[in-house]
Amino acid sequence: MIKKILIANRGEIACRVIKTAKRLGISTVAVYSDADRNALHVSMADEAVHIGPSPSSQSYIVIDRIIDAVRKTGADAVHPGYGFLSENAHFAAALEREGVTFIGPPVGAIEAMGDKITSKQLAARAGVSTVPGHMGLIENADEAVLIANEIGYPVMIKASAGGGGKGMRIARNAEEAREGFQASRNEAKNSFGDDRIFIEKFITEPRHIEIQVLGDKHGAVLYLGERECSIQRRNQKVIEEAPSPFLDEATRKAMGEQAVALAKAVGYNSAGTVEFIVDGKQNKFYFLEMNTRLQVEHPVTELVTGLDLVEEMIKVAAGEPLSFGQNDVKLNGWAIESRLYAEDPYRNFLPSIGRLTRYRPPAEGPTGSGAILRNDTGVYEGGEISMYYDPMVAKLCAWAPSRDAAIAAMSDALDDFEVEGIGHNLPFLSAVMNQERFRSGQLTTGYIAEEFPDGFHGVEPDQASARKLAAIAVAINQVVQKRAADISGTIGNHRRRIGRDWVVAFGQWHFETSVESMDGDLNVSFADGDMLRVKSDWLPGKTHCAFSVGSDILGVKVDLVGSAIRLRWRGTEIVARVRSPRIAELACLMPVKVAADTSKLLLCPMPGVLTSLTVEIGSVVEAGQTLAVVEAMKMENALKAERKGVVKRIEAKIGHSLAVDELILEFE
Ligand code: ADP
Ligand code: ADP
Ligand code: MG
Repeated sequence: MIKKILIANRGEIACRVIKTAKRLGISTVAVYSDADRNALHVSMADEAVHIGPSPSSQSYIVIDRIIDAVRKTGADAVHPGYGFLSENAHFAAALEREGVTFIGPPVGAIEAMGDKITSKQLAARAGVSTVPGHMGLIENADEAVLIANEIGYPVMIKASAGGGGKGMRIARNAEEAREGFQASRNEAKNSFGDDRIFIEKFITEPRHIEIQVLGDKHGAVLYLGERECSIQRRNQKVIEEAPSPFLDEATRKAMGEQAVALAKAVGYNSAGTVEFIVDGKQNKFYFLEMNTRLQVEHPVTELVTGLDLVEEMIKVAAGEPLSFGQNDVKLNGWAIESRLYAEDPYRNFLPSIGRLTRYRPPAEGPTGSGAILRNDTGVYEGGEISMYYDPMVAKLCAWAPSRDAAIAAMSDALDDFEVEGIGHNLPFLSAVMNQERFRSGQLTTGYIAEEFPDGFHGVEPDQASARKLAAIAVAINQVVQKRAADISGTIGNHRRRIGRDWVVAFGQWHFETSVESMDGDLNVSFADGDMLRVKSDWLPGKTHCAFSVGSDILGVKVDLVGSAIRLRWRGTEIVARVRSPRIAELACLMPVKVAADTSKLLLCPMPGVLTSLTVEIGSVVEAGQTLAVVEAMKMENALKAERKGVVKRIEAKIGHSLAVDELILEFE
């Protein structure tokens, strides 16, 4: 049996593996870079080894450093998590040479599946349906056009060594095929040092549905149902669920059996994922690729199968046979995962870094309404999100007996999740959870692009929601007024009287209300006679509170901004002003503050390092031209000119770190 596991990873997945190892009575070793000295995974492990500077290229993905840490601590097994070295065949081979158990598939399987062309050929031979297209390499743009014409447009041009959505282009005609071939080839060469390109049919209304497989070293391979991961932004998964609302039992079985056939064909063991693209119109599915590791979104499978995949991986690695068969695998209920990213949705999802001044996830475990919450995380309140790694902060999962109930539980859980100090996508996740299209399960990988064509600008409340929020603002104002009256009462015998009539204004909304205390609750009446009863235990300083409004309960984030009340709920953010009728009347006469004109400035949109400047003073730039590149969180962000102009002044220097809104250059 395995006695000590070194986890060659960081963040939430390192913490997740440590938890299971602990439960199994196995000691754990964490590895960490400079930036992760105080990280959660380090404090959770029994031992921790420093493996180098912050950039992962000098720490987490240096095989020798990991091997050194293994030797130093006497670990007898390594779990690679996902990302980093998890699909690196050299790493698995190096561990084998050391006599250390790799908690993952055999070297041969990693190699066979690491290349898209090879794996597609292998899949076709194993009887797996593959995307129609050309199975070989393409030498030049002319050949690319010929092949694309033959396949029929639209086509997908792909890099054989591709991953993370890079080196991929859609082409809708011959010209796009010619350009796309060149662009994909360049990108592939730069990103993977491998410019082999192939072309396949672009599947329309595509849904991404993947099968979890699990095998042992004695030849058994099972499928553990599917996950639907169609909610993606630039090929990065954002929301996943199990099962898929699209599959029927027969298709599930057919996909599962093909996934198992492929895994068997490469002698697979351990946990792995076979990704398929499903044609939403024709209901046909096609093999995309196999990920030979534990997948980010594995918790949804665990929630519906009741299995612990990390435990299974550890037992399989130790040589144990699986303790159950295909017929024992039962899918129970519905699970959804929302990936909480340190990306600011209001700034086109640019990565955001900084200190987590507040980090309060909802309580894990059973909720009052029969759901179960789980939150996999690698951070803590007061900790720092650095620019060196992936921007994923946590994975919030909700399980419930039905899809509708799971969505409702997820919506509530997102409302109860408090994160401050960094830009993050909680409001965006809430917005998706509450969209009719999401609720109806009509998903495609184009969902986000189609539903948010101009980006995300928050959810506009409808009349009913606006009234509820207005009533909450009035209730909060009542507490604030009462407190002010109590404090001012200390001077002489004076006692301030609190009025009954209040005008609430935010965005386009304007409500005239009148309040009345009723047995400790508050009745808020609107001008048209409508009335909402509000009940809460909100007190100044309380940043999150449950408000009972009419027959609903709303989990709302509250803060007082000057004399205004900021409320955040279900992706809606309002800054409400609650004023007496007389003050409201006078407020209309106040001048409106005009924002400074920054249209002639290029400001850094996120914290990061300026890695290149492609213009100089006097350069004439065209709209769309790249001006500078800022690197943050593994991503290169090209800053482009919004319109034609002449560069007047350059302020920032290459290699320097820039803060948000720091001046890079100015136009004439
Ligand atoms: P998945 O289908 O599981 O999302 P990906 O291959 O896109 O698979 O990547 C897995 C996860 O690991 C993603 O969240 C990605 O951002 C992250 N990841 C990939 N490479 C690295 C890396 N070098 N360091 C940290 N995280 C990484
Ligand atoms: P990566 O290794 O970058 O994850 P994949 O081959 O898994 O590459 O593709 C990533 C995503 O691109 C898929 O989830 C899907 O959304 C889209 N995609 C890939 N191939 C096709 C295709 N032939 N037709 C439509 N969409 C595709
Ligand atoms: Mg993929």
